[in-house]
Amino acid sequence: MSSKLLKPVMKSYWFIFMISLYFSFVLNISFWRFMADNIEITNFGTIWFALSLPFFIFVPLYIVFNIFLTPYLAKPISISLLLISSAANYFMYAYGVYIDSDMITNVFETTARETFDLTTLSFFVSVFITGVIPSIIIFFMKIEYKTLKTELKIRILASVVSIFILGFFIAVSYKEYASFGRNNREVRKLLNTVNYIYSVAKYFRLKADAKREFVRLDENAKHVSDTDLHKSVFVIVIGETARTKSFSLGGYTKETNPLLSKQDIIYSKISSCGTSTAVSLPCIFSSLPQKDFDKNNAKYTENLIDIVAKSGYDVWWEDNDDGCKDVCARVKTEYTVKTNNPKYCFGSYCHDEALIDGLEDKIKDIKNDTVIVLHTMGSHGPTYYNRYPDKFKRFTPTCDTANIQNCSKEAIVNTYDNTILYTDYIISSTIDILKKFTNLETGLMYVSDHGESLGEDNVYLHGLPYMIAPKEQTEVPMIIWMSENMKKYNRIDYECMKKEASYKSYSHDNIFHSIISLLEIDTTLYDEKYDIFKECQIKNNNIKK
Ligand SMILES: [Zn+2]
Repeated sequence: MSSKLLKPVMKSYWFIFMISLYFSFVLNISFWRFMADNIEITNFGTIWFALSLPFFIFVPLYIVFNIFLTPYLAKPISISLLLISSAANYFMYAYGVYIDSDMITNVFETTARETFDLTTLSFFVSVFITGVIPSIIIFFMKIEYKTLKTELKIRILASVVSIFILGFFIAVSYKEYASFGRNNREVRKLLNTVNYIYSVAKYFRLKADAKREFVRLDENAKHVSDTDLHKSVFVIVIGETARTKSFSLGGYTKETNPLLSKQDIIYSKISSCGTSTAVSLPCIFSSLPQKDFDKNNAKYTENLIDIVAKSGYDVWWEDNDDGCKDVCARVKTEYTVKTNNPKYCFGSYCHDEALIDGLEDKIKDIKNDTVIVLHTMGSHGPTYYNRYPDKFKRFTPTCDTANIQNCSKEAIVNTYDNTILYTDYIISSTIDILKKFTNLETGLMYVSDHGESLGEDNVYLHGLPYMIAPKEQTEVPMIIWMSENMKKYNRIDYECMKKEASYKSYSHDNIFHSIISLLEIDTTLYDEKYDIFKECQIKNNNIKK
């Protein structure tokens, strides 16, 4: 036997290429099985999408390997990943397992007997063939590296070229990627190596978080109104996925706000804190501005809702969306889906009217000053057609499927516009309910969490990194309505406010401080530079409650 056979030789760039191929195709069988079962080839777009998938898997692995597979590190890293990934590959394929942090918890906290039950003969055979044998080959292999400078040049060039190829494929198939990803969220848990590295990191982060102390804010926050002549009811409506571009109040040519345009409201185009509900929702209620906001810290810190409740208001949260991301964790919360209102609910979801059905009676019964949050489902995609009842199907043809890749851009936009038309009705109806209570001091603020892309530059849905997100995803509407009592007792020059709101650039940063001001809460957290009402407050102090 020659020594060459005992010691296979491979150039570093070939080694990186081969190992990326091996991980992409041999160790990701479950991912490919999922794709084969779930991709519907319906048109040219979906064929192109299917053709791009190998690049989608290969390129990220290839780049990561180009960074980490260096002299001394290449062998230990690739052998460890091979052994773990071959085991993960077996479990995913044989048991249909998806790897997430819950799964990792099971692995770390499982008993020896359970582990023993899972490690069958076929497990050992599979790991031996797909993990151990390749590891042995790599162990004895001689990887030939060029000089540092040449290695760097080759790796950077290879990475840049592969990013361009992948970028090209994704740009062409963005609609398919967005839609497929939205409708098959679980698939990321099948991406071998990414799934368990991410899940193990998340497992340890959750463990660390469990020990975190909850941060309480200003314990002395107080609602300061001189007398109790009028009880107040303030409604905060949180919009979902509504963008200013589709509001006729902001100049959209299709009439999507026929009712609100007749109400005496303040309308403003503001910028959102994030491009997803998970970031924007807690950020809207946080006392911190976007630049200091962190969604993990927010989970362990009191927010606007807590301060309002502490200051003496009764607070309820009515949820018709996917929950309040812990914002409402310490106040009374109702979920519309659980009430299963037969008029507006359809099993897993309800139309937003479920939020205001019975609202009038609830307001009649209030005993204290009250703040009500209505968390709407708004324009949540890609199933826009499920967001509104038939009588709001005004813009046609519509896209009546979750697979938006099968619809024309025009149909997608029409369907989305119908959701805005329905939102117009929801907000306007809530204002009409509040108007009936002339004995109360009532007001309403509507603000959307983030926007939505509807095919502009071939981008769909939302959630792009903020830095590169288009304005369709970050420009959201804010609407304020005040009763005569609220204007009077808050000394607000309403016309001044309407004018200011039409040109000033507000953001989610303004919400916390403006609501604190409107609700007349005395707290050290209040920062007047974020209070949008400050400029239009009538200085005259003669008006007394
Ligand atoms: Zn959202």
